[in-house]
Amino acid sequence: MNIKTVGVIGAGTMGNGICQIFSQAGLQVLMIDINQEVINKGINTIDKNLSRLVEKEKISNQAKLSILERILGSTNYDDLKKTDLVIEAATENYELKLKILSQIDAIVSQDVIIATNTSSLSVTQLAQSNSSPSRFIGMHFFNPVPVMSLVEIIRGLQTSDETHNVIIQLTKFIGKEPISVKNSPGFVVNRILIPMINEAFFTLAEGLASAEDIDAGMKLGCNFPMGPLALADLIGLDTCLAIMNVYFMNFKDSKYRPAPLLQEMVAAGYLGRKAGRGVYEYSK
Ligand code: NAD
Repeated sequence: MNIKTVGVIGAGTMGNGICQIFSQAGLQVLMIDINQEVINKGINTIDKNLSRLVEKEKISNQAKLSILERILGSTNYDDLKKTDLVIEAATENYELKLKILSQIDAIVSQDVIIATNTSSLSVTQLAQSNSSPSRFIGMHFFNPVPVMSLVEIIRGLQTSDETHNVIIQLTKFIGKEPISVKNSPGFVVNRILIPMINEAFFTLAEGLASAEDIDAGMKLGCNFPMGPLALADLIGLDTCLAIMNVYFMNFKDSKYRPAPLLQEMVAAGYLGRKAGRGVYEYSK
């Protein structure tokens, strides 16, 4: 593994977290976004996260400064020439990602691995943006990136063993836990998680128990840190519904039909915490 500089496309929720953990592991990081304002915002978020670690005495102030120093922001894709790996973490939009990935492909050398952090698009399909799809792979980080240890490593149909092995090794090097997953809608974690949440809406609609009791049941009976309905509020009911629709369309299996109550609540604007109301009410 000879990866010393990592390019990250996108300075948003996931992008800045990815930049932080690679820099914390001692690598040089290039953060790319569309304008300087978004980059500054991303760097500020990292600064705040690191300050919290300093306060808790998990890292020294000197370590914080070194981590920040290793991250350079840029709006110029040409700077990617200096990178050994590029991770795309831009907005979840197929056309946009294709455009970004083709741009990266034209700039970096042929031995540079290109990874995507997509949570719902096909890694095999996105690999077609690349002149050599064997060096293309999915690295699905979880939010918040500095806290969550899992990374799903997604092999597209054409991903080579070499690409896969390098990325597994790198993921362990930065202190995360990789699991290998074949390309398929929702990969593994969301494929299991979101239908479970959907089922919780069926049980609620059927009046089997109150929302509070459904959540308490799953917390106390399965040792989950939070119940499925509270989790739906956190993720966003619209996001849960969109993911169920992706499964339903792709697998054409009725077991993935979205719960009518979930659809009704989304139609009413009860999108969860971000809307102040989902299954539960939140004071804004
Ligand atoms: P976000 O909206 O917070 O950030 C996306 C960033 O991409 C923005 O800063 C935007 O300016 C930037 N961007 C847009 N066009 C660009 C371009 N042409 N070049 C460079 N940057 C560009 O989104 P996010 O939540 O960080 O999601 C990013 C990716 O991570 C998506 O593919 C998403 O599916 C995936 N993901 C998100 C989560 C999550 O919980 N948010 C979890 C896992 C994976």
